[in-house]
Amino acid sequence: MRTIAVMNQKGGVGKTTSSVNIAAGLAKRGKRVLLIDLDPQAHASLHLGVEEAGSADTIYQVFAGAKKLKEIRQLTTTNLWLAAADLDLAATELELVDAQGREHVLRRAIAAHCEEEPFDYIIMDCPPSLGVLTINALTAATEVFIPLQPHFLALQGLSKLFSTTALVRRRLNRELRVSGVLLCLYETGTRLAADVTDDLLHFLQSSDEDAPWAGAQVFNSRIRRNIKLAEAPSFGQSIFDYAASSAGSHDYGMLVDEVIAAEATGEQPLAEAA
Ligand code: ADP
Ligand code: MG
Repeated sequence: MRTIAVMNQKGGVGKTTSSVNIAAGLAKRGKRVLLIDLDPQAHASLHLGVEEAGSADTIYQVFAGAKKLKEIRQLTTTNLWLAAADLDLAATELELVDAQGREHVLRRAIAAHCEEEPFDYIIMDCPPSLGVLTINALTAATEVFIPLQPHFLALQGLSKLFSTTALVRRRLNRELRVSGVLLCLYETGTRLAADVTDDLLHFLQSSDEDAPWAGAQVFNSRIRRNIKLAEAPSFGQSIFDYAASSAGSHDYGMLVDEVIAAEATGEQPLAEAA
């Protein structure tokens, strides 16, 4: 099983779009997938057509200790389960502040579920912060995917993000590693995108061996800016159902193939970026 946190403390970089479409693409290829929406804004839940997150059970109840993961997860399409979020989840940050073992709540819930009923993939859509929900995702994860929009400040926020993953790896989860950086909202052929990509590769390659991002790669698949990707959430559909022949469907399809290909090599990703 691969447990992947899709994380970046910046908003609007493509976390939710990537979480949903990677999860949906894996499910279409026959993998059993659980998508966990960890953002109180519940965008991933909406994207999968769960409109009234307020009326269903959500991951909030798992954090509150009221329900098991198995009791709140729902099947959305073949092979694709969702642990939905709702606005209540915003309270979790406060409610867990003083709780013992607060960083491990999600990890334990996943372990209990998978003992009975395993998944091939668990994808966690993180909120745009480095609070207790994101820390729970990192403690539960074996891998981190970082979506990044290549503009000139893109790398600035990364150092905080990397130091957080390093801290979690030291204190909470020795298995954690950043396996891939995903370039989203990519403008093909621009100088800027190419420069940011070069800087990023340079940074990753010059990293310390014990850093969680040592060996991280930039995915070969670049997710181009594509209006269909922005439209699909309003229809409660993944890009593969909403616009199967779009550029967005193509790009995420290629990415999903790359993610699956990394299974064969013991979860070591990914070909070097071009
Ligand atoms: P995050 O979860 O990091 O805040 P989202 O995935 O919600 O980011 O993306 C932010 C906005 O940009 C959303 O409205 C989404 O539909 C849109 N978007 C994301 N990726 C693309 C893309 N490749 N092309 C066009 N629009 C995109
Ligand atoms: Mg989001």
